[in-house]
Amino acid sequence: MKALTWHGTNDVRVDTHPDPVIEEPGDIVIKVTATAICGSDLHIFDGFVPQMKSGDILGHEFMGEVVETGADVKKFRPGDRVVVPFVIACGHCWFCQHQLWSACDNTNPDGEKLDKLHGHHGAGLFGYSHLYGGYAGGQAEYVRVPHADHGPVKINGGGLRDEQVLFLSDIFPTGWMAAENANIQKGDTVAIWGCGPVGQMTIRSAWMMGAGRVIAIDRLPERLSLAESMGPAEVINFAEQDVYDSLQEMTDGRGPDSCIDAVGLEAHGTGSFDSIVDKAKAAMMLTTDRVHVFRQAIHCVRKGGNISVPGVYVGWPDKIPLGAFVGKGLTIKTGQTHVQRYLAPLLKKIEDGEIDPSFIITHRAKLEDAPEMYKTFRDKHDGCIKVVMTP
Ligand code: NAD
Ligand code: ZN
Repeated sequence: MKALTWHGTNDVRVDTHPDPVIEEPGDIVIKVTATAICGSDLHIFDGFVPQMKSGDILGHEFMGEVVETGADVKKFRPGDRVVVPFVIACGHCWFCQHQLWSACDNTNPDGEKLDKLHGHHGAGLFGYSHLYGGYAGGQAEYVRVPHADHGPVKINGGGLRDEQVLFLSDIFPTGWMAAENANIQKGDTVAIWGCGPVGQMTIRSAWMMGAGRVIAIDRLPERLSLAESMGPAEVINFAEQDVYDSLQEMTDGRGPDSCIDAVGLEAHGTGSFDSIVDKAKAAMMLTTDRVHVFRQAIHCVRKGGNISVPGVYVGWPDKIPLGAFVGKGLTIKTGQTHVQRYLAPLLKKIEDGEIDPSFIITHRAKLEDAPEMYKTFRDKHDGCIKVVMTP
């Protein structure tokens, strides 16, 4: 089969690999019908995620048709149409039983490496390095999906197109959990950094949860316009306006009730001292994370407010304003999304017409075009917001 393969930083190619087969009785194999590129894939493409190996197949946002099932699989049979969550979970451990799916204890064979780094390890993830199990990803013609009875959601009937349900695999639940983690109360003012696919889903989710005002921050005009078209959100262009001053002015000096960092470790600086230091250290390989947005969110949020971080960080960054954090009495929530928790309720919202997540797609391509599409999406060329590929 053909699959998008990592060879090194900035070097991905469509190569031929053996077709996946059933390895465990809980596995299914699916024929991929649609797959997307995620901002998290860019962290791999740009060389920030350690423990990648040449030959790894990328991709964790995908859906398709079941072609084979293992002997123990109860929920699926060949021909079923499924969306696969990016988190692989056993369904039985303490964490799965407590709906903390991305913390599953049993699906990450590389767990020991993460235990040393983080104290404990999380679940295995598709296409996300040999810190997360080295599972082959879904930017491919076929994928093996382990623990199938505790992952994919079946899409019944032909009423919904792939593009409408594909993002259940990651970014719709991620935006939803980001908004949930921000503890939004009716009428709250919510500021969201980053108007990429995750930021856009977070904006929509914040409105659905009853936010009174949503303020979206980015510098790319097409992403700010899309944010503005929803709600409408108010927008701040961080390349032209001072974010702290603008937010305080917009909230009469109090600050937003919740601040959400939907940017993560590749944040662009704004010429501030901290962002220059981050950039220099990242260039010298002294740090992996540029933490400017996280610091700014802490600085801007109101006293007693909430910080939610769906953006991915991987390392041990410094200059975290812990003093402000304690002094202002803030709450922070973050994490890899517990995708399985949200599949059924969010599918229902799509079925009921409350949201059509395909609104973010700007580019449609074939799998062969994936290397080019990685560059287009990474460089934000051609108005690119989200790429969907069909094998
Ligand atoms: P993306 O690269 O398309 O979007 C990031 C956006 O942030 C861009 O529009 C960029 O212009 C903007 N940005 C950069 N610096 C900024 C700054 N200083 N202030 C405001 N905006 C700034 O990526 P995406 O697909 O939207 O993903 C966003 C983040 O979410 C990534 O870190 C990704 O890894 C993470 N993510 C996390 C999970 C999870 O489970 N927690 C799941 C999916 C994605
Ligand atoms: Zn993703």
